[in-house]
Amino acid sequence: MPIYEYQCRACSCRFEEIRHASSSEKPACPSCASKDVVRLMSAPNVQGLGGPDLSGPSSGGLGGCGSGGFS
Ligand SMILES: [Zn+2]
Repeated sequence: MPIYEYQCRACSCRFEEIRHASSSEKPACPSCASKDVVRLMSAPNVQGLGGPDLSGPSSGGLGGCGSGGFS
């Protein structure tokens, strides 16, 4: 299932939710329970947002999205 990234507009925190692609419901913010959230595009080449988690200097290699999805 796809994991979407959301950002709360109330407290500006970011979180991830597993959603069906057809689902249009928005999850509630885990921090303040607000549903005023926007879905972020978690494409591998997001630019201009300054996301610190996409180009981590420590890991290297095949970054991709998601962290530790396989076990
Ligand atoms: Zn919030």
